[in-house]
Amino acid sequence: MNNNDVFCKIVNGEIPCYKLYEDESVLAFLDISQVTNGHALVISKNHYDNFLSTPHEVMHKVMDVAQRIGQAQIKMLGAKGVNILSNCYEAAGQSVFHFHVHVIPRYGENEGLVIEMKSGNENLNLPALANKIKID
Ligand code: AMP
Repeated sequence: MNNNDVFCKIVNGEIPCYKLYEDESVLAFLDISQVTNGHALVISKNHYDNFLSTPHEVMHKVMDVAQRIGQAQIKMLGAKGVNILSNCYEAAGQSVFHFHVHVIPRYGENEGLVIEMKSGNENLNLPALANKIKID
């Protein structure tokens, strides 16, 4: 629990939200700034700073709900696609430091979200990079 954290305040009922789902460890609600219609956030009720620092079981529960919200956006809102996004740390655009997953329905045209992955460097040593970040 972190008293200065807006999502802890939502969990505690101190700030209202448009709730989509709740159980003992997960809460889902509409993002206050709707990047596209139906843009949702799925959060852990307990405070963890971000996806990378959240215990496995909790992270899995949050992702399970994110999947179901995405399915509902396709079925009920007529979305043509969904982006699942979790920003970790300021350098990646995180502004609320409480684990959350954005579930953003995509309709194809005139949207407030542009995700563009540009290849930045063609002269990288891929074997060396792979060696550095491979896991057991
Ligand atoms: P991020 O930049 O990934 O940390 O995303 C934080 C998100 O929280 C932003 O999309 C905000 O619009 C959203 N947000 C902040 N305050 C609230 C609030 N009171 N209710 C709903 N969403 C919020």
